[in-house]
Amino acid sequence: MATVYKIGSPKSDEVAQIQRALHLIPDGIFGKITREAVIAFQKENGLNPVDGIVGPATLAKLFPKDETSSFSIKKSKRRITDIIIHCTATPEGQAKSIAKITQEHKNRGFNTIGYHYVIMLDGTIALGRDVDIIGAHCSGYNAHSIGVSYVGGLENKPGVPYKKLKAKDTRTEAQKSALRNLLMLLKTAFPNAVIKGHRDYSPDKNGDGLIEPSEWIKSCPSFSAITEYKDL
Ligand SMILES: [Zn+2]
Repeated sequence: MATVYKIGSPKSDEVAQIQRALHLIPDGIFGKITREAVIAFQKENGLNPVDGIVGPATLAKLFPKDETSSFSIKKSKRRITDIIIHCTATPEGQAKSIAKITQEHKNRGFNTIGYHYVIMLDGTIALGRDVDIIGAHCSGYNAHSIGVSYVGGLENKPGVPYKKLKAKDTRTEAQKSALRNLLMLLKTAFPNAVIKGHRDYSPDKNGDGLIEPSEWIKSCPSFSAITEYKDL
């Protein structure tokens, strides 16, 4: 890596890596959104100056030596009995950032993103809320579960209103492989947890976290997680 990346830096794989580390869509273009995420990261990590420029000090914080590329699973302090798969109810092929999902969930009254992990279109595994904190993704089953979602789950039909779009398994090959890898890691961390889809739980009425519009809950995550992951 070169030493400094900032707004207007040429599009590159290095910028994409920085974006992945910041849970952004890794398009490799250092624009305003990336700059804002760098500023937030610098503030959170006590870096000085907070200038939105990725230099050696920020790089070192973004890519600690002991976890350069491998993704490790943090064990939850909670007892975990269920790993629940969701989709974000996003039309096929449409990207969605962690920041956007977080904002949408906040708009629904949650204090942050409801899921613990989100699988991006390119297979990036993005972190949602901390696994020690109870999620907001499956009403009645949040206390002892981990919520995993992939970006997608709806057909993409230009001209059809969003609410009329039908459920569809839109997972890219990269998402399928990342999801399986993540589930294998989660099963190692929580060997007794069962893997199911959101639709395999009958929603109760206590309203502690149903993220998708109600008309899609019965199909979320748009494929049979029980069947697909029965070998795990
Ligand atoms: Zn769901």
